[in-house]
Amino acid sequence: MTQKHDKTDVVADVVVVGGGPAGASAACRLARAGIDVAVVEKKRYPREKTCGDGLTPRSVKALWDLGMREEVSRYHQVRGLRAYCGDRMLELDWPDHPVFPRYGCVVTRAELDNALADRAKKEGVVFFEETEAIEPVLDDGVMRKVRCRTKQGEDFSLSSNFVVMADGSLSRFGRRLGNQRQKRYPLGMAIRGYYKSARHNDDFIESHLSIRDAQGAALPGYGWVFPEGDGSINVGIGLLSTFRHWKDVNTSHLMDAFSRVLPDYWGVDPDAGWSIRGGKLPMGMSVRPRVGPNWVVLGDAVGAVNPFNGEGIAYALETAELASDLLVHAVRNDNGAVLQRYPEVLDDVYGSYYRTARLFVRLIGEPRLMDVLARVGMRSQRLMEAVLRIMANLITPGLRDPEEKVYKLVEKVVAIGPEP
Ligand SMILES: Cc1cc2nc3c(=O)[nH]c(=O)nc-3n(C[C@H](O)[C@H](O)[C@H](O)COP(=O)(O)OP(=O)(O)OC[C@H]3O[C@@H](n4cnc5c(N)ncnc54)[C@H](O)[C@@H]3O)c2cc1C
Repeated sequence: MTQKHDKTDVVADVVVVGGGPAGASAACRLARAGIDVAVVEKKRYPREKTCGDGLTPRSVKALWDLGMREEVSRYHQVRGLRAYCGDRMLELDWPDHPVFPRYGCVVTRAELDNALADRAKKEGVVFFEETEAIEPVLDDGVMRKVRCRTKQGEDFSLSSNFVVMADGSLSRFGRRLGNQRQKRYPLGMAIRGYYKSARHNDDFIESHLSIRDAQGAALPGYGWVFPEGDGSINVGIGLLSTFRHWKDVNTSHLMDAFSRVLPDYWGVDPDAGWSIRGGKLPMGMSVRPRVGPNWVVLGDAVGAVNPFNGEGIAYALETAELASDLLVHAVRNDNGAVLQRYPEVLDDVYGSYYRTARLFVRLIGEPRLMDVLARVGMRSQRLMEAVLRIMANLITPGLRDPEEKVYKLVEKVVAIGPEP
């Protein structure tokens, strides 16, 4: 059991900084293995998190693997993606796959993250909510303590042999340890808001690959509409750092313009949106180092978002699983040496896919090329189905036609570009 001598020093086998999908699921897995875990989370659940709220079949599978089938069954299900490019539209079902389900979901992060934290609590994880990890205490490079401050301003320390860093995209705690995002890797920037819609129960998520404002001028980025099934829809716009002039873009103006040109069937009042907020998406495993003598970095904190589609929840859950397998060994043997395999494990699982994705997004940063690719692709349902599989990382083992052709084509196209 986590020992609370008093609030000045709390002892656990593993301390997890950040209780989002990465931190809460890692804590849950460790506790199931009999390990004593404490999570420090700066907000109180249920807490909002700026997100599109979309779960691809990959995220659904990762939640199933955590034993959350019942929770997932309550979320609004979607059968695929409706893609728009100019006046062309295609409805693409999620693929039939031997491993992943044929549906995705949309659920608010308040609900999802609360369910994940609840799971971990049921396994015996101790949560310190409304408490911020403010400083690592190092001894010869090894993190001995995590200094914390409660919302009321009370300071105390969490002592442990191992630390999990899952403090999200800004990873302020990680930065204090010297973790850095590699600037040559792509970074996403996105903004989202909620609107009431009669079509909140739609069974497709929707993506707009090229967007124009009400006057017909092209806007940078791509837009989405994700139906929540609770009376509301999540509307957002994403941009990549590989787009020219991306730093000059005012995302609030972009969001306002997009909400005014949504297809009529959503029935949105563009002036009645709420919780309109933006955030960053660190992509392609962009953060270094990924591991220290007695700590590992997960989810957005390690830059795990998929550059092809901006999805981060699946990768938060998956990196948590990969890291916790190693942590279980480390704790049982009281030796962090095994953790040093973590970067290699990440490379084995994501290396080649993320390399291709990073190069691809660099190429599509050229708007004319993106326009041509999207227009050509949109002429063929089969081709776009293959593109959807690749972009959502639902590639069939052994690669089948036309997926294989598309993936090889993407690889060939990106091979022309310089290695990022
Ligand atoms: C606008 C937008 C739309 C997106 N849409 C999607 C989508 O539709 N689907 C998808 O899969 N992904 C989406 N993403 C990405 C997704 O939100 C993230 O990849 C995901 O939340 C990563 O999970 P995480 O656990 O690593 O980090 P987070 O979910 O950010 O969790 C980190 C937690 O750490 C806590 N924390 C931070 N610092 C400290 C500290 N010092 N002490 C204590 N606690 C701390 C935070 O309060 C937070 O609870 C989107 C992102 C944005 C910005």
